[in-house]
Amino acid sequence: MTSILSLKCERITINLRTTFRVAHGASDQRYNVISYLDDPETGLCGIGEGAAVAYHGESQDGIMSYLQNAAGSMGDDPFLIEDTLNHLPPGTPASRAAVDIALHDLWGKHLGQPLYRLFGLNPSAAPQTSFTIGMDEPALMAERAAKSGLPLIKIKLGRAGENGAAVDLESVAGIRKVTQAKLQVDANCGWSREQAEWIIPRLVDYDLELVEQPLPKGDIEGLRQLRQSLRSQNIHVPIFTDENVKTARDVAAHAGAVDGVVIKIMKTGGLREALRAVHTARSLGMQLMLGCMVETSVGVSAAAHLAPLFDYADLDGPLLIANDPYVGLKYDGSRMLLPDSPGIGVSKREAVQ
Ligand code: MG
Repeated sequence: MTSILSLKCERITINLRTTFRVAHGASDQRYNVISYLDDPETGLCGIGEGAAVAYHGESQDGIMSYLQNAAGSMGDDPFLIEDTLNHLPPGTPASRAAVDIALHDLWGKHLGQPLYRLFGLNPSAAPQTSFTIGMDEPALMAERAAKSGLPLIKIKLGRAGENGAAVDLESVAGIRKVTQAKLQVDANCGWSREQAEWIIPRLVDYDLELVEQPLPKGDIEGLRQLRQSLRSQNIHVPIFTDENVKTARDVAAHAGAVDGVVIKIMKTGGLREALRAVHTARSLGMQLMLGCMVETSVGVSAAAHLAPLFDYADLDGPLLIANDPYVGLKYDGSRMLLPDSPGIGVSKREAVQ
């Protein structure tokens, strides 16, 4: 092979179905980037995505300029994924994920196989995905939970202010009244150590499956102490960290401090590092949740191919957006149906309608 792989990128504006409100802020639109890796030798094109999550220091401009800058580093062999990734210029995780996903998509298209098969995974072993309810008036949150009719709901908590934790508790109580669904809560760094100590023993009355990121980003020692304190009160709800962990190295730093970690390909910088993080977590006896940012079917379908390796999945990104330009991962209620077509298995929405 002598032709150089050609990398292009395009800005996209994502419209959210309802205002998405979490402890970090609220948004109606997000601005991501779609990447295209053309192989002139075969005419195949790998597709990728970078999610511009401001909270993680990402921006659409930053991802665009990274990809334009990296375009000269793609090499001429689509099978040399490790080499290509190792020779990329330094950049943010979402920028690198846009390259990593496109490379994996191209790999699968060359071999004519969906990624899960190339990873040796059983698609029917993928866990159900949770459906996310953003922060809002407690009555509205309960209404959304009831309307969804879904069996696994992730509730966003972590309200600011003195009364924040009390309103959080009220939200969960309200949702529990209207649904028998399994409930998970995600505080998105919103509670102090004291608030977490106060609210978690009260929240478990509503039968929670797990508690995600109860403390501010980076407070590993706080998580360790919180978990010990809960255990000493005979409270065994699993504590997960999300914002604290990007790479395999971060996972290792949380051994013994949490029960599980949330892996997202927009944090790891793609599928390769996500796999390393998965194996690191398993070697340390941790549970695993596969998450996503606000992403189209491109990023979320790519991640979904790894879902059989996880205990929990939170891959409802495409369900939260109104103008997804691609189709790929499908849902039957909370069940995820991994795409069977080669690579990440996405196609342009117009093409299938
Ligand atoms: Mg989270």
